[in-house]
Amino acid sequence: MFPAQFKKLIDAFSALPGIGPKMAERLVLYLFKQSDDDIHAFARALKDISTLSRCKQCFNIADQELCTFCRDPHRDKTIICVVQEPLDIIPIERTRTFHGLYHVLGGTISPKIDAKEHAHLTIAPLLERIKRNAVKEVILATNPTTDGDATALYLKEKLSPLAIHISRLARGLTTGADIEYADDLTLRSALINREKLA
Ligand SMILES: [Zn+2]
Repeated sequence: MFPAQFKKLIDAFSALPGIGPKMAERLVLYLFKQSDDDIHAFARALKDISTLSRCKQCFNIADQELCTFCRDPHRDKTIICVVQEPLDIIPIERTRTFHGLYHVLGGTISPKIDAKEHAHLTIAPLLERIKRNAVKEVILATNPTTDGDATALYLKEKLSPLAIHISRLARGLTTGADIEYADDLTLRSALINREKLA
């Protein structure tokens, strides 16, 4: 019905999470109506994403060996906030309450899944990082969900032998919701009133 190029792009959009075939068609039609310059800018932005990688230290998205936080000499290197995904950093930064560094786990530990399935999580590099640097506190900022809580508990046990403070974001965040969607005030108070675990 449509040229192959049109269909190919619809398929590419449909493969993205949360985008159904109808939405994909609408997006491609929208792009088709744009100027050549706009389409080229869009294509370039898409292509440039492949030049990004993970920060060697905290696994956040980075355009150099280290991400902007790890490169920043003004950040407090003695405190690390552990988050599930890079996008969780955005709402925490928005609170302007946290001035330390981050560590991106890359997911959660599900009590229902075999431990081998968690090999992709950056837990070993986190432990190494704490041992190597003069870290005083680790804030566990995993989501207030079943898996997020299980992950915080697992990390607490792993980190307990190290002589550091361990804390968890205070209750008050909506249970079952993602930190990514928490409002600034609630998240700010969850950070300030963080619960000491060890
Ligand atoms: Zn980093």
